[in-house]
Formats: sequence, C-alpha cells, structure tokens
Amino acid sequence: EHLLARIERLDGTLNSFITVTAEQALAAADAADAARARGEAGALTGVPVAIKDLFCTEGVLTTAGSRMLADFVSPYDATVVERLKAAGTVSLGKLNLDEFAMGSSNENSAFGAVKNPWDSRAVPGGSSGGSAAAVAAGLAPAAMGTDTGGSIRQPAAFCGITGLKPTYGRVSRWGIIAYASSLDQAGPMARSAADCALLMNAIAGHDHRDSTSVARGVPDYTEELAAPLAGLKIGLPREYFGDGLAPEVEAAVREAVKVYESLGATVREVSLPHTHYAIPAYYVIAPAEASSNLSRYDGVRFGHRCKNPSDLIDLYKRSRAEGFGEEVKRRILIGTHTLSEGFFDAYYKKAQQVRRLIRQDFLDAFEEVDVLMGPASPTPAFDLGANKDPVAMYLQDIYTIAVNLAGIPGISVPAGFAGGRPVGLQILGTHFAEPRLLNVAHQFQ
Ligand code: GLN
Repeated sequence: EHLLARIERLDGTLNSFITVTAEQALAAADAADAARARGEAGALTGVPVAIKDLFCTEGVLTTAGSRMLADFVSPYDATVVERLKAAGTVSLGKLNLDEFAMGSSNENSAFGAVKNPWDSRAVPGGSSGGSAAAVAAGLAPAAMGTDTGGSIRQPAAFCGITGLKPTYGRVSRWGIIAYASSLDQAGPMARSAADCALLMNAIAGHDHRDSTSVARGVPDYTEELAAPLAGLKIGLPREYFGDGLAPEVEAAVREAVKVYESLGATVREVSLPHTHYAIPAYYVIAPAEASSNLSRYDGVRFGHRCKNPSDLIDLYKRSRAEGFGEEVKRRILIGTHTLSEGFFDAYYKKAQQVRRLIRQDFLDAFEEVDVLMGPASPTPAFDLGANKDPVAMYLQDIYTIAVNLAGIPGISVPAGFAGGRPVGLQILGTHFAEPRLLNVAHQFQ
C-alpha cells in the first residue's frame, strides 16, 4: 500500500510505470501474509518487485514500449515472472523501456520518456530506464531488467542503483520479448548487491523452454557476499580509460578502485585490444537479429493491425509503418540490409568473427586477473533530448556491449557522483562468476 501510494504520488512526473497492477499486488500481498502466517515464508515472500515491460505477464498488458503491442495482453508468464511469483514476490506492475529494448536513454518509448529521479532534466538511461528510475525513486525495492548491450548496467549507473547482467544462458529468456537473441539476458536491478543476490537465487537456472539456458547447478548467490577480498586481482582495461571518458567519471572510478586496494586487492593494467571493434560489431549483429525477431509483427497474428487493408501486402506495410517507432525501423532496415544476399559475408559473418576476438580478449585477461573494473558509461546521465544523433547514442554503449558479445557477466554499482549525477562502477568477471561479482560489489557497499 505504501509503494502503491508512492507510485500514485510520484510517477505522474517520473513515468517509470506503463501499467500498475494495484489489485493483483494487494491480493499477492495478502497471499504472502498468509504464507508467512503458515510459517512458509522464504527470503522474498511479500517483497514487492516491478517488471520491465518486455517480460510477458499472464493477463497483464505487455507492450515492449511499442505501439505495436500497445493492446497486447500476454496469455502466459515469462519463466522469470513465474519464478518470482513462486518465490512469493509481489509484482507492482510493468516498467517503461525503450521500444523493444532498443536505446540507451528511454527516449525511444512509445509511452513517453522516463525522468531520472536524481535530476528531472536527465535521462534515466536505457533501455531498462523505467526499472532503474523506479528503484532509485523508492517506488519498488527491486526490478527486473534485460541487457542486450548494457540495458541493465547503464541505467543502473545513471540512476545510482545496482544492476547485474548475468552470464548469457544463466537466466531463462523464455517469455521475454526478443530483441537480439544471441545477446539478450535478464537480470536484477536493486539497491544493493545483496538484494540482487536474493533475486538471482529466485530467477537463475536451467529452463527446458529456452534452448540457450544452461543446465548447470545454481549456487546460493548470497553465500560468498561477505568473503574477504584480500588477494583479489583487479584488472583495469587500458581501453576503458581513454578518449571520451568524462574526467569526473574517471575520478570516481579510480577512487572506487582505491577502496578495493585498501581492502587488500592488487591492481594492474590489462588490455582488451579489440575494444574499438565492439560497437561496429554489435550494431551489425543486434540489428540483424532484431530484423529477424521482429518479422513476427506482421499485423496478422498479434499486435497492431492497420485499418481497412486493401490486400495482404498493404496490411503488412501499414501495420508495421504505424506500429513501429523510428529507431526500431532504423534497426530493421540495417539488419535487413546486412543479412541480404551479397552483404552477409561482409557484415554479419565478419561481425561474428570479430565477436570471437572480443570474447578471447576477455578470456585472456581473466587468465591474469579475477575481475575487471571500469566505468559503466563514459558520462553521467545526459539531458533529455541532448543526444539526437543515433550514432552518438550508440557510442554511449562503448563500455557495456563487448560484455554481451562475449557472454560474460557484469555488474554496475553506485560509485559517487559527477556534477550531481550518479556514476556507476562496472565490475566484470568470467563466465558464471556472478558469485564473485556480487561479493566484490557487496564489499564496496
Ligand atoms: N543501447 C543498446 C541498444 O540500443 C543496448 C540496449 C539493450 O541492452 N537492450 O541496442
């Protein structure tokens, strides 16, 4: 009730929710109280959460931030949603995002931009901007996000919260509206690493309905939180501290690294030599996969359908022209081009080869150090409307997207402020090193 009242009072300005499910939330809270009375409460019983509107939720609007799905009510729950329910959490509703998770500022939503709770002139980041803003504003203690190229870590950084992108395959993607399937991963966003660990306990693990989900035991993510950091080997990638990094962001990150040194960690410089290929490789692979995934929105089976089509082709064309926003159309066009005959080898295949090199850079670095640290984003949150050029916006993702290309986990933790806006420290580990990342993040907080 407290949070629903807060949402009512504050979200008119913030715009972090697309749908608030007040009635269902109150019913779920009653059920949680009853479970507690029976002595059946787990760590998350009765804990309110909110869900990025990219996760299918049974009987509740699931829009993906798009006009295309503005009226779409999912007939089933995503695996993550199912598992959160089973853990006893209480969903408050569905959170705003960039359309189909394409963006870095939440300005690409058909439901309007979200404001950064720290400064209403600033963007909250994207694409999980609603998730980050809702947690930062105290409208929900935790939220679910997805991260294809930084969409959990960058908004977490911009809003001063903690966000974990797990290893590719660690969390089931079943029932999450697909953007770029070889990169998409779901993860928790909350106020602390400890809260993220509790959520990971609920959502991680194999799911036979997602062929990319990994059949591998799930640890208790809270177990190693308090482990001492003496002897931890930290690598600072040279390429993450170069041109384009705002001096105040760099200062905050270096300050954070000093804290780790005082806890007994050793620090050395490492190199990820193919870093500068990450943005071009990602912006070939992600649009290619998106153009394929989004071909299902044809006006026939579900989603927006234009009025009075003259024939089938007209139905396709107008439904898609009316349903998709500008950035989504741009990505579909890029992806369709790079996948077309005569261009595939030059673009998509080449980008996949580069992706291998990027992955190898990380694996080589993790031979020498336990974790990598750097900024989550080159600048703090920028002003709404300030980044009009799509390529300038893509360059924002410089420190986050290589991680998705490599499939490794990454976490962003609050590390002070630059110009009054939060800065995120990004910590990266090798595949399935989430317990280590949570441990390292927890010790800083
Ligand atoms: N900003 C990146 C993009 O627009 C990443 C988005 C994401 O991680 N979903 O594709």
